[in-house]
Amino acid sequence: MSVRLVLFGPPGAGKGTQAVRLAERLGVPTISTGDIFRANIAGDTELGRQVVGYTSKGHLVPDELTDALIADRLAQPDAADGFLLDGYPRNGAQAAALDALLAADDHELDLVIELAVDPDVVTARLLKRAQIEGRVDDTEDVIRHRLSVYAEQTSPLAEIYVNRGILAQVDGLGEVDEVTGRLLATIEQFTGELPQ
Ligand code: AMP
Repeated sequence: MSVRLVLFGPPGAGKGTQAVRLAERLGVPTISTGDIFRANIAGDTELGRQVVGYTSKGHLVPDELTDALIADRLAQPDAADGFLLDGYPRNGAQAAALDALLAADDHELDLVIELAVDPDVVTARLLKRAQIEGRVDDTEDVIRHRLSVYAEQTSPLAEIYVNRGILAQVDGLGEVDEVTGRLLATIEQFTGELPQ
């Protein structure tokens, strides 16, 4: 299925888990800027060294770096017919950069899904994940900062996509399978196609 999709929502909403499941069903690659940054940090690459000071504190990585990374990744052949973005765009400038990048190839986003969850629930989930995965940005202070960055810079993006008629809100609370089912139903409703 050819679909250009963005999944967004606060840290801890379950985007990563759902993005992988959806991408499998849709047959498009999941592109997660957070995963790409973490892999580069783990591999001690030049990009990893450039971004670790931001990611470890829960600050956004500068747009120049993030936009260039996405331009590179979307130019790869597996993303030619569609993709699922997880964690990008994260602010207005990135949203504009993405539009421009897609427009250069006569493409546009088909659908943006906001995974909605209660802030108290996400904080509890992130603290639990900290114990399991040991992510350096899952400490209480950094979590609080990441949630405020989300509220101030990312959450306002919803309005842009509502105005364009391509925003869908999906309730992110519940069992993983249940949420995946809701997401697939939403995608079917918007695109008129049933994911395999
Ligand atoms: P995530 O796994 O999506 O929560 O991302 C982890 C961290 O990577 C974020 O707290 C930011 O420091 C950085 N990051 C991920 N995506 C972006 C983005 N689109 N723009 C800027 N920084 C990002």
